[in-house]
Amino acid sequence: MNIDSINNGIVIDHITAGNGMKLYELLGLGELDCSVAIIKNVTSRKMGRKDIIKIDADIPVNLDVIGFVDPGATINIIKDGVLVEKRNIEMPERLVNVIKCKNPRCITSVEQELPQEFVLTDRDKRVYRCRYCETQAGK
Ligand code: ZN
Repeated sequence: MNIDSINNGIVIDHITAGNGMKLYELLGLGELDCSVAIIKNVTSRKMGRKDIIKIDADIPVNLDVIGFVDPGATINIIKDGVLVEKRNIEMPERLVNVIKCKNPRCITSVEQELPQEFVLTDRDKRVYRCRYCETQAGK
């Protein structure tokens, strides 16, 4: 794929440098059949360095995951080679089945069928806590 241009797909831009791989993993992009490019440490006037992810397919991406990892990122939707939509990301109030609670005594470690649910408890500090045991989510 030509990483400079995609015809139909999604470009996740303005990712904080270093978060590209994390997003790639949490979004499950490795499981896709289409071309996915991570471009790391791109020089940015606004941010110094940034990461960019380009997905060469019109697939739904979980915006909650992006909001959790990197609320400063932006989404560009490309159709027929044209930028048709730009979306800003917001931090989700709740994050369901994206990350797992690390507390071995958490009820979700015992009751595997329970959803893994985290709640935004401090928007300024971007703190998420397990809904069940209040353990803070690692990033
Ligand atoms: Zn927990």
